[in-house]
Amino acid sequence: MGEKSNNRRRCSFCGRPESEVGFLITGMNGYICDSCSQQAYEIVQEAMKKSPDSSSLDLKDLPKPVEIKAFLDQYVIGQDDAKRYLSVAVYNHYKRLLQKTGDDDVEIEKSNIIMVGSTGTGKTLLARTIAKLLHVPFTIVDATVLTEAGYVGEDIESLLTRLLQVADYNVAEAERGIVFIDEIDKIARKGDNPSITRDVSGEGVQQGLLKLLEGSVVNVPPQGGRKHPDQKMIAVNTKNILFICGGAFDGIERKIAQRHNTHVVGYGATKETLKIDRSNMMQYIAPQDLKSFGLIPEIIGRLPILTYLNPLDRHALRNILTEPKNSIVKQYIKLFAMDGVKLTFQPEVYEFIVDKAIEYKLGARGLRSIVETIMMDVMFDIPSMKVKTYELTKEYAEQQLAKANISRLQHA
Ligand code: ADP
Repeated sequence: MGEKSNNRRRCSFCGRPESEVGFLITGMNGYICDSCSQQAYEIVQEAMKKSPDSSSLDLKDLPKPVEIKAFLDQYVIGQDDAKRYLSVAVYNHYKRLLQKTGDDDVEIEKSNIIMVGSTGTGKTLLARTIAKLLHVPFTIVDATVLTEAGYVGEDIESLLTRLLQVADYNVAEAERGIVFIDEIDKIARKGDNPSITRDVSGEGVQQGLLKLLEGSVVNVPPQGGRKHPDQKMIAVNTKNILFICGGAFDGIERKIAQRHNTHVVGYGATKETLKIDRSNMMQYIAPQDLKSFGLIPEIIGRLPILTYLNPLDRHALRNILTEPKNSIVKQYIKLFAMDGVKLTFQPEVYEFIVDKAIEYKLGARGLRSIVETIMMDVMFDIPSMKVKTYELTKEYAEQQLAKANISRLQHA
């Protein structure tokens, strides 16, 4: 009898009898089996994802350029120029997404950005920070992999794989996103490189990238790379994707200086050259310098906004230690506080750390390694000691660094 009633009860969706499913859930006029309900759940999830998200952007709810910059100021020291350009670019990106086509003949075109600045001056930090307040999908990708791969094709498109992933494979969302391409200088044509093949590949990669930058429909491998040769490609239109590129362009200051030197020849040029601050040539960067460095003119044309980051001077390094919202020093204070210990630093310690970072040319990245080295032993001992406060003195810092052999950090 029991068996018979079992066979009568079927899933009203897939029609399988109770005996063939895990279990049935009873409704008013029918049943649903476990696997159908699972599928139904997934359909609901999918539908919810597709429901307007960034497509419901409203300009008055979005942060204005001034607010975006103020946010960046909390985490990134200096680099005002780059911050302003980024803030405007992001705000304009939203406007572009919101523009109504057909009202008039004016179509706001996208303005991709390129940021040039020595390594460790905050390019990636700016990108990561701005990501926190974006209302569209955002990802950071690295151009170096493109050179390594050596050939064009799928690899360039795989730059968009991460964007698809952060958009949960919602193509419409990804098509409104922002991609930060780091180390763009690594795909520059090496003018003085004797290897012709290397040259060609650099240019080939740039041609491929051009396609993405100018806006076209490309086939993106959803899993990325070549590890999954059988994957079905997803077509993504890059027309509305904003690209922000960053690169150190090592040695570009020389190209800038050369350009300025050639300009000296000619009437009225002397006055202008006199004002030039030779210690920071980066601020005079112009598109033709990118060309001398080895970017093809078409790529430069597709990156109409060119901005730069300043080298970090002593004052900036000193501020980076303590000022950002999650500065290294604040992080250590928090670590100690979790053990119930109030950590303080003698003010001279900061100067000492900055001195060492400059002396060993460690830059902003080195600040952390120096602080880490100084703190190692106290970090080891403090949690087991019965103290409520700890003051880090300059003598102690000196002693710890001497012990650790700081030159080791240079290769960090
Ligand atoms: P890059 O320009 O090479 O992308 P990063 O942004 O990765 O440099 O900077 C490396 C690290 O140095 C950051 O994680 C941050 O801790 C610190 N740093 C660099 N520049 C700044 C800055 N302007 N303000 C605050 N911290 C900075």
